[in-house]
Amino acid sequence: MDLVAYVAKAPRLGETVTGREFRTVPGGKGANQAVAAARAGGAVTMIGAVGADEFGVRLRAALAGAGVDTTGLRTAEGASGTAHIVVDDEGGNAIVVVPGANATVTALEAGDEARIAAAGALLLQLELPMAGVLAGALAARAHGVRTVLTPAPAQPLPAELLAATDLLVPNEHEAAALTGCPDPREAMAALLARVPEVVITLGAAGCLYGARGAAPVAVAAPRVRAVDTTAAGDTFVGALAVALGEGRPVREALGWASAAAALSVQRPGASASMPLRDEITALATETAITLRSTDHE
Ligand code: ADP
Repeated sequence: MDLVAYVAKAPRLGETVTGREFRTVPGGKGANQAVAAARAGGAVTMIGAVGADEFGVRLRAALAGAGVDTTGLRTAEGASGTAHIVVDDEGGNAIVVVPGANATVTALEAGDEARIAAAGALLLQLELPMAGVLAGALAARAHGVRTVLTPAPAQPLPAELLAATDLLVPNEHEAAALTGCPDPREAMAALLARVPEVVITLGAAGCLYGARGAAPVAVAAPRVRAVDTTAAGDTFVGALAVALGEGRPVREALGWASAAAALSVQRPGASASMPLRDEITALATETAITLRSTDHE
C-alpha cells in the first residue's frame, strides 16, 4: 500500500512539517504489473502475500476488482508491505519501503507450481525476497514457461536467476546500474551476454529491444502529453507479457506495450491510469499506420 503525503517542502531529519493531503493507494510493483496485465486482457494469477491487516483486505480486493485471480495470494501474519512516500511541490519524492508480508515469500507453496506451469508467461520483479523470485523462475524454466524479469528495485542479479530469465526488462537507470554502462546501447550489449533477450525502456524516447546475435531495434513511444509517469514501466511490461503470452511477434508486442504505457502516462495515478485492451489496440493500430506512412515518405 502506498501511503502518500503531499507537502510544500519535505522535512529534514528531526524536523516536523504540516502536509497538505494524504492518500492511501494500492500499489507494489507486482500488484501494479498484475493489474496492468489484467486490464490489457490477460488472464492473470498473482503469487505473493498481503498482511493480516486492513491494507491486506483492501489490496486483495483491489486486485480481485481488476480481475486478477488471487487464490495464490497468501495472507501472512503482521503488516502488509507499505511504501511511505513524501511528495513535495516540485514533484520530488522520498520513499521508505517496508516489505512487511512480501518478506515472507521465500518459496513456492502448494499449487504455485501448477499455476506457473499453466501460464503463457511468468512476470517477475524484485520487491519479493530473491529466494522467492528464484523459486518462481526455476519452476517456470522446468515447465518451459517464458520468464520476463523487471530488475527493480535495482540490485545485483544472481547467476542462477539470470540463467532462468528469458527476457529482462530494465529501465535505463536499472540497465546502467546492472552493467556500469550509462549508454543504453552499451548496456544492451553487456546484458545480452547474460540473458537471451532484453528490452531497455527509455521513458518518452521509447525502448530498445535486443536479442542475441541480432542488431538492436529501437521502438519509438507514441508522442503524448504526459501528466504522471508513475507505473509507466509496470504498465509497459504487464501489456508486453500479455502480448507475448498470446504468441504475438516481439515487434508487434513492443508496439502494443508502448501504446499501453503511453495511455497510462496521460492520466494521473498508478493502477487507476492503466488502459483497457480496446484502448491499447486502438492506439497501437493508429501508431502503426502513422509509422507505415512515415516509412513511405
Ligand atoms: P519506468 O516507469 O520503469 O521508469 P520508463 O520511464 O522507461 O520506465 O517508461 C516505460 C515505458 O513507458 C517507456 O518505454 C515508454 O514506452 C512509456 N513512456 C514513459 N514515459 C512516456 C512518455 N512521456 N510518453 C510516452 N510514453 C512514455
